[in-house]
Amino acid sequence: GPGSPRAASGAVAAQLRRRLESELEDIRGAGTWKSERVIASRQGPHLRLAGGGAGILNFCANNYLGLSSHPEVIRAAVEALEKFGAGLSSVRFICGTQSIHKDLEEKVARFHQREDAILYASCFDANAGIFEALLTPEDAVLSDELNHASIIDGIRLCKANKYRYKHMDMQDLEAKLQDAQKHRLRLVATDGAFSMDGDIAPLREICQLAQKYDALVFIDECHATGFLGPNGRGTDELLGVMDKVTIINSTLGKALGGAAGGYTTGPKPLIDLLRQRSRPYLFSNSLPPAVVGCASKALDLLMESNAIAQSMAAKTQRFRSKMTAAGFTISGKDHPICPVMLGDARLAAVMAEDMLNRGIYVIGFSYPVVPKGKARIRVQISAVHSDEDIDRCVEAFTEVGRKHGALP
Ligand code: PLP
Repeated sequence: GPGSPRAASGAVAAQLRRRLESELEDIRGAGTWKSERVIASRQGPHLRLAGGGAGILNFCANNYLGLSSHPEVIRAAVEALEKFGAGLSSVRFICGTQSIHKDLEEKVARFHQREDAILYASCFDANAGIFEALLTPEDAVLSDELNHASIIDGIRLCKANKYRYKHMDMQDLEAKLQDAQKHRLRLVATDGAFSMDGDIAPLREICQLAQKYDALVFIDECHATGFLGPNGRGTDELLGVMDKVTIINSTLGKALGGAAGGYTTGPKPLIDLLRQRSRPYLFSNSLPPAVVGCASKALDLLMESNAIAQSMAAKTQRFRSKMTAAGFTISGKDHPICPVMLGDARLAAVMAEDMLNRGIYVIGFSYPVVPKGKARIRVQISAVHSDEDIDRCVEAFTEVGRKHGALP
């Protein structure tokens, strides 16, 4: 009847359907099917799931500072929506730039102590745009092998000479920098913090090598902005190299309110060039005012005080030390991404399921998301977890770990 879905007819459509169904079957068969749990409440440390499950303790959001549902962040979004409307129906350079976009760009640059900033619909877009706009076939880009998919895709789009160095391996990076001396410009690109392992790029060493071999440094700070470093400025602040990292890409969709959006911040001529040349910026709609309002308020809160970032660091420390004392191996160091290393893919899956049965929402990761034999449950700590929340999580892990033989 009217309104019900229409299946395309014809032989080609039928062939497509068979091909897609077989591909989907392969994914299921490989055990890598990703299903989506439906949440019926706001994002936060305590969730209600659709169809039941209230009071679920959530340990798998990138809501590091708990700002996703912060009352002031929500109020700022509502005010921006009322005053500036639902959206711009335009890209930035036609008629999609409002005063709030300019204000937010200025605020992002001030937060990172950089000259200027440019907003995107996402950090995925910022990463898709920068390499192609900046690098030509005369140049070279050197990328950590475990960089985020969006950096890999961004690099694919550019025509520079491509080098991939072993994960955080400074000898390998140095060898590749030596080889890349023949090119006009060298850009080293790395995640500041790696989201699967919770490990932090050795930026001091990277910047030293960059200086020695005349290279620029680019970092993706999605899992660092807002909370790493004494004032939450990120990995460059944590490691004391704010004046040595040239370009930062980051997201507004994680610690900074969690709505959406991304940006590049760095030298003014680079930002000016991106406004002229960066395709995801030129050919995609402006950030909606409510989203701008969220991020702008999140940055205000962080520039007023480092208390939230500090509180997250203390909670992270509590979780990591209690889990280690219980006998678990937690990868990474001092980062709120706390991967509980289990090795076996099935063990990670059944333990995550059993944790949810106990009201604790965590996610298991296995091959191909992480290397074979390195399956894990990734726990993410937030400033809005209470000490009791953290202790409940550790207790549940201990019980579930004993039950399934992950602990003696
Ligand atoms: N870079 C890294 C390291 C990420 O973890 C993510 C988020 O998934 C992105 C980029 C993309 O950010 P966004 O969600 O703003 O597109």
